Amino acid sequence: MARVKIDYGIDLGTTNSSICRMEKGEPVVVKTDTLKDTLPSCVSINKKGSIKVGDSAYNTMKSDKRRASKSGKAMDSNTYIEFKRTMGTDTKYHCSNVGRDFTSEELSAEVLKTLKSFVTDEVFRSVVITVPAKFTVGQKTATIEAAKKAGFDHCELLQEPIAASFAYGLSSEQKNGIWMVFDFGGGTFDAALLKVEDGIMQVFDTAGDNYLGGKDLDAAIVENIIIPYLKENYSIDGILGDKEKNTVLRDAMKTYAEDVKNQLSFKNSEDILSNLGDLGEDEDGEEIELDLTVTQQQVFDAMRPVFQKAVDVCKELMKRNNLKGSDLNKLILVGGPTHSPLIRQMLREQITPNVDTSIDPMTAVATGAALYASTRDADVNDSDIEVGTIKLDIGYEATSVEQTEWVSVKLDKTGSESSCPAKVLVELVRGDNAWSSGKTEIDEMGNVIEANLVEGKPNAFSVVCYNEKGDQLSCFPSEITIIQGSKVSSAPLPYNIGIAIWDDHKEKAVFKAATGLEKNKPVPAVGVVNGLSTSKQLRPGLASDLLTVPIYQCEDDPEAGRTAALYEYVADVIVTGEEVESLIPENSPVDITLKVDSSEQMTMDIYFPSTDFTVSKSLDTSKKQSVSEAEKLIPQMLRDAQRDINRLAESGVNTEALQNELNGVMDEDKNSQEKKAVLQHLKEVLRKIEDEDAGSEWNRLEREIREEFERLEKADGELGNDKSHQLTNHLRSQTDQVIRSKNVLMGRELLDQIRTIFFQLTMIYQCMGLIRDCSNNFGRYRWKDASRAQQLVNQGMAIIGNNPTVEQLQPIAAQLVGLMPDDEAGNKGGFLH
Ligand code: ADP
Ligand code: MG
Repeated sequence: MARVKIDYGIDLGTTNSSICRMEKGEPVVVKTDTLKDTLPSCVSINKKGSIKVGDSAYNTMKSDKRRASKSGKAMDSNTYIEFKRTMGTDTKYHCSNVGRDFTSEELSAEVLKTLKSFVTDEVFRSVVITVPAKFTVGQKTATIEAAKKAGFDHCELLQEPIAASFAYGLSSEQKNGIWMVFDFGGGTFDAALLKVEDGIMQVFDTAGDNYLGGKDLDAAIVENIIIPYLKENYSIDGILGDKEKNTVLRDAMKTYAEDVKNQLSFKNSEDILSNLGDLGEDEDGEEIELDLTVTQQQVFDAMRPVFQKAVDVCKELMKRNNLKGSDLNKLILVGGPTHSPLIRQMLREQITPNVDTSIDPMTAVATGAALYASTRDADVNDSDIEVGTIKLDIGYEATSVEQTEWVSVKLDKTGSESSCPAKVLVELVRGDNAWSSGKTEIDEMGNVIEANLVEGKPNAFSVVCYNEKGDQLSCFPSEITIIQGSKVSSAPLPYNIGIAIWDDHKEKAVFKAATGLEKNKPVPAVGVVNGLSTSKQLRPGLASDLLTVPIYQCEDDPEAGRTAALYEYVADVIVTGEEVESLIPENSPVDITLKVDSSEQMTMDIYFPSTDFTVSKSLDTSKKQSVSEAEKLIPQMLRDAQRDINRLAESGVNTEALQNELNGVMDEDKNSQEKKAVLQHLKEVLRKIEDEDAGSEWNRLEREIREEFERLEKADGELGNDKSHQLTNHLRSQTDQVIRSKNVLMGRELLDQIRTIFFQLTMIYQCMGLIRDCSNNFGRYRWKDASRAQQLVNQGMAIIGNNPTVEQLQPIAAQLVGLMPDDEAGNKGGFLH
């Protein structure tokens, strides 16, 4: 039977994945090849090039890690996990066994294909795949790409916390209130707050840590329990002191830690035993063996600080939403580690007593995805419908919070066989057989049937067709499902979306939020940025005349006007002269409209009011983020951050917290391969530095005003005349006044004035300096017309040597500046401002 709804949901997890489908109105998790509910998101490729996914791949990885500790050398791995982390980047996973690289999307596609292969009784081409609430546009586009590679024609995305609450909401008596989804996975942590009103769920804020999860618990167990045990029983100081050997040993130990951690969620104590010969030798040549008993208490003590980080994120999330623990009606647990009684207890004590443990934390997301999928239309081809079947056009709301729902049924004669009888009757029969609609006659105009719903669950109805004589006829669709009691409203934007515009004062492109695209706005949504102007002209027909509008997403204060490059880049929209009909001069007004659809794909309208002309563009978000570029940027950015902190410290700011944070990032840079994470954390520090800078701006400005005024006074004394004395005196009283007012804007204006007068007073020296510089460094400039420039320099140098005057030198200097390439004469790029 072809399905009218998508009906299949996949949780494509970083560590584990799962597939669930609707069967007679109930979500049923499809068992894996090892008869489990979840499949490790792990891919391994052997020498023959055959690809294994799931438990066998995960076991290969585990034994590889243990074996590597024997030699103390990292092995050439052909096993991959956590590639979800690099979705949307150009990261390559090298496979020496087949001699080629795999992308994150290709590996994810292998996981999807394997999940699909567990369904053997049905062909399906449409699917709902869940993504973290915080996934960027590029990561979402990459997920859709992976689904295409896995052979799905139609893929819809759903946010993981919404999926989990949908799974939960249906079985819950409670249809109103505020819920929190606490999703602690293998390597990521996400918290989401949802408002539930009459069963309608809406995420209104999210927080999380992309680098916190079960594997940090494993590392803590290694650090606090296994390493001390090894140190006590073996000589391993040398191994621990060697970077590679240390990593290899710890990686092997984490595999034991994971096993014991998972067991101790349900037991009081557990043994860690290694097989003889599994691990290598210590420095005295003694065979290393693990044989220790670990108690729940010991493991809990080791894990507590890791879980505490997640609890703190929740506290912060509640605080910024002015919520107390008692305001939370439910806290829903998702993710493997939430099996642990420790985190459950910590949440009860520190967040809310209303911790709910009624749903399976490993399958909640896939279950919710399937439920949601049952409300979304699948693509149905006529070839999917058997010959001789009567085709019906059925209209209904797939989710409802009412007791009954109207279902409209029309006969689709064009899609049906010509043998369709003159009179057709339809009956809806509810899955529990406790209710049926009775027969209603339908035709091409259609009719409506009131369907009676059971509360708080999906209601499957068989659609049964009869002819006049009462014979049953086969029809399509033959089943519909209406979910009663819950409804998902549209997904919220996970970030503020905006553009980069040029800030003349900062001389940098800064983030400007689009009004209407604030974080948590439900999509689809439309944003606008008005009152901008072009910084360069666009001449019609000229491809080299560019207007660039870069789009960024900002997770913190969108109004802070911080440097755009310190946020996550989405895509560029570029308008060239070829796309405009008439000249758009420099400084022309521009209004931007940015439309975001429900899967966060975007289009932009760039409107030029002076010529009443609009350019419309769709954004290409499929461009992969370059990880190697990120890596290259880090050292310079670290140096910049240190320089800025030093500067702040010199000006008397307390920079201790900033310095500690920067040191943390520096350590991370040394120890971690995840350069994307390093860059993200580094940008966070740089944003804080920028804020601190803005806060201490007045102090800097005051110092600058004083210094520049002193310089002016001196120049006035040496080179001035009556007029300049008068101006300087005027500026002196203004300086006193502005310094008293501490007004930054007035301060900046005054500084400009002081500089202008200084410049005019010293014009002759400025001109001489410029001409001399051009003469000394002639070859360094990419002159527009080198021979003319040479001529001017010669002329200028001759005048300088012979009682020069401003009148003589100024035109020469001005012409030389005109001959310099544009980007060396101060550049605003093609940005708006
Ligand atoms: P993801 O969403 O990242 O795919 P999962 O929700 O599947 O992750 O969680 C995987 C993590 O859960 C792993 O670190 C695993 O060790 C841990 N885990 C699985 N079962 C248990 C358990 N019983 N107790 C504690 N942790 C567990
Ligand atoms: Mg998960």
